[in-house]
Amino acid sequence: MRKNATPVTPAYLGLGSNLGDRARYLSEAIRLLRRLAGIRVTAVSQVYDTTPVGVVGQPNYLNLVAGIETELPAAQLLTACQGIEQALGRTRDVRWGPRTLDIDILCYGDLVSTNAALTLPHPRLAERAFVLVPLATLAPDLTIGEKTVRELAALTDRTGVRECPENGIG
Ligand code: ATP
Ligand code: CA
Ligand code: CA
Repeated sequence: MRKNATPVTPAYLGLGSNLGDRARYLSEAIRLLRRLAGIRVTAVSQVYDTTPVGVVGQPNYLNLVAGIETELPAAQLLTACQGIEQALGRTRDVRWGPRTLDIDILCYGDLVSTNAALTLPHPRLAERAFVLVPLATLAPDLTIGEKTVRELAALTDRTGVRECPENGIG
């Protein structure tokens, strides 16, 4: 008899880098995500060069969004993402300060969590053009709270978000 398949959950990850060879950190992160058991990378957005939000006076970011399907529970997915941040030299000193790699879980299926260690959907997603612009290219009809990603993206100021077509990461 066939064993029941492990449930697969669609999720979206937001990746950012603003130290060192930013494009390389992003492509390495995607490569490492593809190698993880229990994760299938289904889509990768274009790369965007973005003006930092929050702490000013730091270098511009490169950002992208990846769509995945995963058998991992959300907490294990976060641990896996943090392992990739560590492997690519992430240190944690200044909150929102420069970093080689940041991976945020933007959403995990329909899961809503208010836990500080893993808040879902990501608590600052709806106000961040650097996430919403790439996410809208992959999942415009995805709903976050009451609105679609397309609607949220249209409401944000995207002047600090520039597509870099030469930097496509497969
Ligand atoms: P921001 O969350 O505003 O994007 P940040 O990415 O710079 O800021 P980090 O220092 O990377 O913040 O993470 C701080 C903590 O956020 C982590 O220890 C993690 O437990 C927690 N966290 C809560 N929700 C999420 C989420 N959806 N994705 C990733 N980390 C999360
Ligand atoms: Ca972040
Ligand atoms: Ca983070």
